[in-house]
Order: sequence, then C-alpha cells, then structure tokens
Amino acid sequence: MAPLLKVDGIKTEFKTEKGTVTSVDNVSFELNEGETICLVGESGCGKSVTSLSIMQLLERNGKVSQGSIEFEQTNLLDLTEAEMRKIRGNRISMIFQEPMTSLNPVLTIGDQLTESIRLHMGYGKKQAKAYAVEMLNKVGIPRAEEIFGDYPHRLSGGMRQRVMIAMALSCKPKLLIADEPTTALDVTIQAQILKLMKELREESKTAIILITHDLGVVAEMADKVAVMYAGQIVEETDVYTLFDEPKHPYTLGLMKSIPHITNPDDTRLDSIPGSVPSLYNMPKGCRFYDRCPFAMEKCRTDQPELKPMKDKKPHSIRCFLYDEAIDGSRETLNKEVRT
Ligand code: SF4
Repeated sequence: MAPLLKVDGIKTEFKTEKGTVTSVDNVSFELNEGETICLVGESGCGKSVTSLSIMQLLERNGKVSQGSIEFEQTNLLDLTEAEMRKIRGNRISMIFQEPMTSLNPVLTIGDQLTESIRLHMGYGKKQAKAYAVEMLNKVGIPRAEEIFGDYPHRLSGGMRQRVMIAMALSCKPKLLIADEPTTALDVTIQAQILKLMKELREESKTAIILITHDLGVVAEMADKVAVMYAGQIVEETDVYTLFDEPKHPYTLGLMKSIPHITNPDDTRLDSIPGSVPSLYNMPKGCRFYDRCPFAMEKCRTDQPELKPMKDKKPHSIRCFLYDEAIDGSRETLNKEVRT
C-alpha cells in the first residue's frame, strides 16, 4: 500500500539580499496512516521549514526547488493555491508555534472554530457550536462556553495555543503537523494535549508529524524519528532503536544532554559545544565537522550521504564512521552515550 505521505528529496531555498540559501537539503521520509514521525534537532535545523514546505506555506521568497511531496498519491507541489486551500485545515492541519499566526484577531474564537467545523464537517450551526465547545473542553479551556464568544487578544498565550490545537484537531485531519505544540504550556496541559493527539491517532488513523526538541515527548509519541542537523536528516530510525542504539555523533550529543532517571541529582548534563553553521556559509564537508568529537580529515572535505545501516532494522545514518568504522569504534561510541 502506498504511504499516506511521501516526502522525496525536497530542497527548500530562500532568496535573500545576501543570496540564495538552502534551508532544507534533500530531505526524504514516509508516513503511513496512524503513524507518528518526530523531527528532532536544534533551532534552524530545517524542521519547521520542512513542515511549511509540506503545507505550501513558505514565505514569498521561499520555494521547494527539488523533489516531490506526495500526499494521498498527489504531488502537493503540482497543486494550485486554491486546491491547497481545500486540503489545509481539512485533510492536513497544522498547529503552529505561534498561535496568532493562525487565529484571526477580528473574529471570535467561536466564529473561527465553527466556521472550519461547518465547512469541513458539514455540521449545522447548533451542532457546530456544541462540537466546538466540546473541543474547547477537551483541550482544557476553562469556562469554554464563555471563551467561545471572546476575541483571541483577550486570551493568554497558553489559552490561544489550546484554541488553535482544538481547531486543528476538530476536523479529524488525515495528517496533523504539530510544530512544538506544547512548548508554551504547563506540564499538566501538555500531558492532556499529547493524550488528545494519541486519541485522534487511534480513532481517526491520523498520521502525525511532530516537531519537537523535547526527547521526553519523542519517547512518548514517536513511532519513528528523523534527527535533523543544518537542513539535512542525519539519522532516521524507529523510536526504540534511536533511544537504545543512537549512532550519529549529533544524536549521541543530544542524548547526553538529557537527564536520566537513574542519574544522581548532581550529575552534570553535557551540551554540544559550538553552534550550527550559518546557512550562508555551509561547510564543504560534513556539516557537523566543527562540533564532532569523532571528526576525521575526510569529514572536512567530503559530504557524507544518508545511508541505511546493514542491520535488519530500518536505520539510516549520515556519517563516515559507519562507512569505515570497525566494531571497536562503534563500541566506543555506544560507551560514550552511556557515560
Ligand atoms: Fe563526525 Fe565525520 Fe561523522 Fe560528520 S562524518 S558526524 S564529522 S565523524
């Protein structure tokens, strides 16, 4: 069966005053119905631009210049804006990092919620209102009936975020793209939202692309994970393999920067030294070269490709260590992550 979504070798570029920059470089992944992929990495690694490329919501100076994005076997890049508008908010919904991006400041919360429910689900006015209030309750909005008549500016940032989540989930999309959906919310509400997303996945077989830097959320939600660095996927595998056998030096660095329940309270967490290279000045060789504790001379001059590992699990890595490493050096890497 064809996957619900097949992102194949996309390259997303932006024209700027200083020249053309590539934010997403040859990114590919597939997603089946009811499956969740988490895109993980630091700010500016291309996670959000990947999702905006799928939604066709790039800034005017941005463009997907290569590759294809097949959703339900249609290449979204071939659709007109009018055709895309019919898919957005209906077959594909997105929860943005910044709620005001998708809430209209001059319409009440109720008008905005019921408009999309009536349009996409065919409900009458009364039924749409009842369903909207039910959704507001589900995302933990207190006094949902009152909030229904309020304008977005009267709500706190966290409340607006929850309204937007209610809006995105209400039409039971086939694909939900959630960009750091719970970052601004406290842990209780965060748990509630993640539970709602799981319910949606089970009831409606919704596939989810979840963008997050929180590895706790990844462990809870993901079926598979793509770790991104400087616009490229550097490691992709299922969630169990990622946590049990992370391989790419960047993934190892991320793992070492999270607290473990078994660590004593005074354990110092490591951070990855250095910073992500500038889009205007990408290194010729491996993009992680300047920060990599295992860098070799070849890494400075040649670009590693994303290649499948030889083991049985689907596991791809972009690193020369796994082209050339003997078992001993893999052992060293694995020891590194445990200490
Ligand atoms: Fe490090 Fe080289 Fe692997 Fe890049 S290719 S991650 S520099 S070892």
